[in-house]
Amino acid sequence: MIDLHCHLDLYPDPAAVIRAVTDRGIYVLSVTTTPRAFPVMKRMIKGAPRIRLGLGLHPELVAQRHSELDLFPALLGETDYVGEVGIDGSPPHQGSLDLQERTFRRILKLCSDRGGRILSIHSRGAASRVLDCLEANPNAGSAVLHWFSGSPKELARAADLGAWFSVGPAMLRSGRGRNLIAGMPQQRVLTETDGPFARDGGQALYPWDVASAESGLAKVWGLDPAGVRDVIKQNLVRLSKTRGSASG
Ligand code: MN
Repeated sequence: MIDLHCHLDLYPDPAAVIRAVTDRGIYVLSVTTTPRAFPVMKRMIKGAPRIRLGLGLHPELVAQRHSELDLFPALLGETDYVGEVGIDGSPPHQGSLDLQERTFRRILKLCSDRGGRILSIHSRGAASRVLDCLEANPNAGSAVLHWFSGSPKELARAADLGAWFSVGPAMLRSGRGRNLIAGMPQQRVLTETDGPFARDGGQALYPWDVASAESGLAKVWGLDPAGVRDVIKQNLVRLSKTRGSASG
């Protein structure tokens, strides 16, 4: 199983979750919400070969934490993955939209300058803005739009720009989410949980809950869950080979 977007550092007992995903052989991209969390997590995942760590600055934290952007250039050399980054245009964060966009563009430029990265990107309420930024920075790397919730037209534009998509149980529960997923290029879809932020029936999702995303995808794609797992695995292999290079 593959969880391409979760927050291992935000579970009540990260070490226990790290052991559990390692025992189960789950591939995890653990994203961070601030650069300060990156070195801490890097130490924690030592010896867990299937866990990758993203360097992030979450758009919902940009207003308070944008000064931590200064830590980005030095830490960027330590990973092929950047996330969680992006723009949030929902009402509580509209006041910082311009600062969020400047921050996101700065991060994309840094990625371009370093030969590209694989990016896990948040775009709630700001899909067009995010796509404008990606279009202006074509060498930033391979963009993976996590929990995409834009319009079908924005989805088509994202696909044309070569974006990838990571989808989880919560997105697959809604009819709107399933319609968007049906419109995504199958060879550029990955699974995620967004745990522990994303919840199912009041419980925080854990990386092994991508099993539920696999069964949801099976229905959307008309495959059995094993077939879905094969597709997702091949997609991850291709995404990893891009190593964030622009041609990906
Ligand atoms: Mn997240």
